[in-house]
Amino acid sequence: MGKIHQLSTTLSNQIAAGEVIERPASVVKELVENALDAGATQVDITVVDAGLREIQVIDNGSGIAASDVPIAFLRHATSKILTTRDLFNVHSLGFRGEALASIAAVADVTLETATESGLGTVAHIAGGQLDDTHAAAVRQGTQITVRDLFYNTPARLKYVKSQQTELARIVDIVNRLALAHPEVALTLRHDQNLVLKTAGHGDLQQTLAGIYGVSTAKAMVAFAGEDLDFHVSGYTSLPDTTRASRNYLSIMINGRYIKNYQLVKALIAGYGSKLMVGRYPIAVVAVTMDPLLVDVNVHPTKQEVRLSKEAQLAALLTQTIRDRLAKENLIPDALTNL
Ligand code: ADP
Ligand code: MG
Repeated sequence: MGKIHQLSTTLSNQIAAGEVIERPASVVKELVENALDAGATQVDITVVDAGLREIQVIDNGSGIAASDVPIAFLRHATSKILTTRDLFNVHSLGFRGEALASIAAVADVTLETATESGLGTVAHIAGGQLDDTHAAAVRQGTQITVRDLFYNTPARLKYVKSQQTELARIVDIVNRLALAHPEVALTLRHDQNLVLKTAGHGDLQQTLAGIYGVSTAKAMVAFAGEDLDFHVSGYTSLPDTTRASRNYLSIMINGRYIKNYQLVKALIAGYGSKLMVGRYPIAVVAVTMDPLLVDVNVHPTKQEVRLSKEAQLAALLTQTIRDRLAKENLIPDALTNL
């Protein structure tokens, strides 16, 4: 008798969840990205105890049809891609079909959803098992409530840091999502307190003001540039408004916040010697490009991507920032270095 057996769906989903759902902020990111993919113009996020007790995301997007509800929680179940070709031409934030299955494997989930035409559906999934779904009158959109995250994976729960740290991570990711989507009105509440509210009018500088404060937003200038493959635009701070870390730099590719050190370096290079050592600008860079030039399927959380023409994009960014700053009457380099 052999000793190899295939793991149960519940167990394999729990294992997979480890890659996508590291901490409360991962749940928030995945749920908000789903709301954005569903075309929501309003997304309201509420977290209790830094998301460990409860995370709720309400959107006014397309909703999920009743017959799709049980499928949505299966692993590798997605409405966003169908063929290998689609995989290299991703126009949505999600496409792996892993988030809902992963979240449901490590938390207690209640879903309320309705499409434009259908009556709504309410569903409850605990420990990865769908144990209730029924029709109900629900307004169009989706409301997902995730309770007791990691209740059945104690090792993961132990790995979670203090509530203060976890909340900071949630705020950070929501800030970036808001900056990537100034056209969507977002709110974030923690234990009844309003932490963030964006207008959703599509004005990036206004969104920046909501996040970093009005005076910081005013110290930033708009830039834009393009070549044959890329369009870059955004806001960046003048050299006298800086921070001691690179955390205030956000790079968005086709509406997705990504981590890319080369592009961060390229933006900083645009300042030449205008920045003091150890100081970094505050900036949001929105890159639009043909999705064929970016491979998003590199990492489960999709925050790292592979760009086919990265050096070209980096050069465009550096040049765009350099040209933009050259238009400002900045204090000569020699004086800032005194
Ligand atoms: P993915 O986003 O990679 O497709 P998910 O597990 O996050 O996978 O979601 C599975 C499917 O459930 C999505 O493809 C989508 O069809 C549906 N879905 C999830 N969240 C929402 C939402 N907020 N609004 C509408 N549909 C949703
Ligand atoms: Mg998703």
